[in-house]
Amino acid sequence: MRLIDGKEIALKIRADIKQEIAALKIRPGLAAILVGENPASKVYVRNKRKACEEAGIVSSEHALPEHTSEADLLSLIDKLNNDPAIHGILVQLPLPKSLNERKVLDAVTPEKDIDGFHYMNVGKLVANENGFYPCTPLGVIALLKAMEVTIAGSHAVVVGRSNIVGKPMALLLLHENATVTICHSKTKNLPEICRQADILVAAIGKAKFVTADMVKEGAVVIDVGINRTEAGKLVGDVDFEAVSEKTFAITPVPGGVGPMTIAMLLKNTLQSAKNG
Ligand code: NAP
Repeated sequence: MRLIDGKEIALKIRADIKQEIAALKIRPGLAAILVGENPASKVYVRNKRKACEEAGIVSSEHALPEHTSEADLLSLIDKLNNDPAIHGILVQLPLPKSLNERKVLDAVTPEKDIDGFHYMNVGKLVANENGFYPCTPLGVIALLKAMEVTIAGSHAVVVGRSNIVGKPMALLLLHENATVTICHSKTKNLPEICRQADILVAAIGKAKFVTADMVKEGAVVIDVGINRTEAGKLVGDVDFEAVSEKTFAITPVPGGVGPMTIAMLLKNTLQSAKNG
């Protein structure tokens, strides 16, 4: 079994990004918008900003109160859309329920939508055209490539169909010429389908959901899940101990997909700066 060390692979990618930024005439700029007091969101934004600074990306944080009106938020986004020093705009999700998430995400100009959530970028992903794609699935593809896993012709099974992970993951694998099956909570015979996977991606949000009997001998298993046990331990969607005995390669949690998400955010911001 090979352990897919996302932390190390992400560090390498971040070092390359840093080098490329150092050679640029401008410093890329990322603006992070955080609405409300969600503690997990605060940690995510802090980590993303720290990674930006390390790479040479100038980051700014716009922390808005929980009861910010939609008009005020849209006006801030408009200002950032028109600021030439800003190349990436990140709206940390989830937004408070009073705000229309779709309207807010679509207010970010597609050229600065480094999370790939704007409808225009969603469409470009479906059409397999250049655009910004969601960072977590991009990170998974980068991991598979770093490990020299053959994607073309393989059967990839993605468990989960969310707009930010499962669906874009399936599309990226399809564009890499995998044969893709998407599973979700209404899928019948889920274990049987998972057992057919050469590449199995778990993006469910349920601790240790994928058990050894659901995995084919020699499969590559990518665990996107982040769950906290009652004891406060961070675990993935895959029963790592048992499953890893059968796999060709597997990502750990933490230290697998998570660090890659941030690396891809930096990569998208750099790309935006290069696009001008
Ligand atoms: P989500 O929006 O809650 O989607 C979960 C998906 O799993 C849904 O499509 C759901 O199916 C499916 N599902 C739930 N129970 C199932 C079951 N019993 N059998 C089969 N499918 C089932 O979650 P998400 O945003 O995609 O995130 C998934 C996990 O990845 C979470 O643990 C999240 O924390 C983690 N995550 C990690 C990163 C990272 O950087 N590592 C980034 C984003 C998310 P239905 O559609 O039928 O409900």
